[in-house]
Amino acid sequence: MSVGLIYDPVYLEHDTGTHVENSQRLTAIMSHLEENGLKDKLVLLSPRAATMDELATVHAPEYVSQIQNQAEGGGGWLDPDTVTSPGSYNAAIYAVGGALTAVDAVMSRQVNSAFALVRPPGHHASCWQAMGFCLFNNIAIATKYALSNFEIQRILIVDFDVHHGNGTQDTFYADPHVLYFSTHQYPFYPGTGSIDETGARNGEGYTVNIPLLAGWGDNEYQAVFEDVLAPIARRFEPELILVSAGYDAHWADNLALMQVSVSGFARLVEIIKTLADMLCQGRMVFTLEGGYHLEALALSVGATFDILRGKRQISDPLGKQKGKTKPVDFNNFIRMLKDMHDL
Ligand SMILES: [Zn+2]
Repeated sequence: MSVGLIYDPVYLEHDTGTHVENSQRLTAIMSHLEENGLKDKLVLLSPRAATMDELATVHAPEYVSQIQNQAEGGGGWLDPDTVTSPGSYNAAIYAVGGALTAVDAVMSRQVNSAFALVRPPGHHASCWQAMGFCLFNNIAIATKYALSNFEIQRILIVDFDVHHGNGTQDTFYADPHVLYFSTHQYPFYPGTGSIDETGARNGEGYTVNIPLLAGWGDNEYQAVFEDVLAPIARRFEPELILVSAGYDAHWADNLALMQVSVSGFARLVEIIKTLADMLCQGRMVFTLEGGYHLEALALSVGATFDILRGKRQISDPLGKQKGKTKPVDFNNFIRMLKDMHDL
């Protein structure tokens, strides 16, 4: 089972200083992959830069130029959460390009699956707006690229970052070729992702939001993936699965209040992989979104690579958060989701 790793030090040049989304996230991941010997078992791929035409499939060209001018003019704040430095534009176009490189490698069968370890992250960025640490929407542009460059009609995006990927949802809200499935803490930043946001016009039914209450963890996520994502994926029959892989739902992560463990993330990846093996010859592309507890992030990405390589056992030295119980109304929640989506 060959698995691609897309990485380049250019991603460290998006210098956010003491911001929680900083370059240590990627250096922690890369050190972990080297120390445990995983890096040598992966196919290392260098990203290219995305072109303006590729960026313009999701973003207004004026917006792209605005980001470039601001960054190269010295950088600054785009919103209260999102900052650029002089190297940010270059890092961002290589972050998009990393996702495109991953798509090429998987679609050409150079590798079975691939994970683009990129930053800045992307899933909050929309046509005209940088927000939530995101400049360009890496996964949305990769989705557009895959649809226009390969003979495929249906792409499933699974977004398990703890935040709702509003930018990705907006991009494909009326598009029946892309099924966007998101689990996220709710209500929470950025405010979107309620259960009744299900798509518009031809895209009605192709957006599936799973708003989760703070405090839910491995069991609830697993049930949602098995009982809701799996039947939706089987009905949609994707030809490629893209994953917005954010690890900020880990219990140790301070940005949110979910209780997923490293083993819990591994289980979610295993469910996605089983679906990909069954439905689309195992074709999966992961792109990094959030995840801010460095150890939890590095271990979770390592576990993701292990599962993608076909391993059944992963190591989870952080373990599970103690003393959490399953909320009583969870089964009703699953039933409501199944009714809502005719499952
Ligand atoms: Zn997030």
